[in-house]
Amino acid sequence: MRPSALERWDEIAARLEGRRPALFLDYDGTLSPIAPRPELATLPAATQEILERLARRAPVVIVSGRGREDVAALVGLPGLAYAGSHGFDIAGPPPAPGAPPLRLEVGLEVGDGVPERIGIAAERLRRELADVPGVLVEPKGFAVSIHFRLADAGDVLRVERAVDAAVDAVPGLRKAHGKKLFEIRPDLDWDKGQALLWLLDALGLDRPDVLPFYLGDDLTDEDAFRALGDRGIGILVTDEPRETAAAYQLHDPEEVRRFLERVAGAVLL
Ligand SMILES: [Mg+2]
Repeated sequence: MRPSALERWDEIAARLEGRRPALFLDYDGTLSPIAPRPELATLPAATQEILERLARRAPVVIVSGRGREDVAALVGLPGLAYAGSHGFDIAGPPPAPGAPPLRLEVGLEVGDGVPERIGIAAERLRRELADVPGVLVEPKGFAVSIHFRLADAGDVLRVERAVDAAVDAVPGLRKAHGKKLFEIRPDLDWDKGQALLWLLDALGLDRPDVLPFYLGDDLTDEDAFRALGDRGIGILVTDEPRETAAAYQLHDPEEVRRFLERVAGAVLL
């Protein structure tokens, strides 16, 4: 287990001294408790309130595996920047007065027709898995999630075979694993870590007087912890011991909210 970011707050506050924070936050399992179905993972009102308060003083970016518009609707704060589909699809307000709005579409930038291919794979999986109870195929623009949280454990192998077959059938895609889900993504060298580095640069935050924080619970968040390294503070959200590149740990979204309160207190001083 990593040390608690709440118990070690003094250490973190010392690094924050004379710098301003920038917050990069995963959504599911970090800001919002994991729910049995993705649409039920709502943001607690107290967390929304603290995010709104923080965003007035510091850059706040939501980095999620969900589609960008989906996660933006769940957070419900139009002033924030959102990196959806693991950072393949980024949009936000202009990073500086007079600058154009923040925007990055990785799949489109390299001219790969990613959304079309994802659509074909999703359609195929919907057909093939229609008769497997508890499986949910969720197309997200730049990725498709195949949730099996509610499925029978005995059906998971069949689900994975269908996912593998879809990846083989449509060029330029690859399989990834999440929490109780498979995901099909573009086979491009891009992840939450690369998205984080792109965001630091695009938002003008790659400077010594800024202390970036990255909070996340998923395996995909490890790419971001590694990319951040010592230049910022990575916090893993889980109550289980796990191999991680993060420096600190918080148990659950409720502890994340309390941690964000601390950061807000330090910024508003
Ligand atoms: Mg998560």
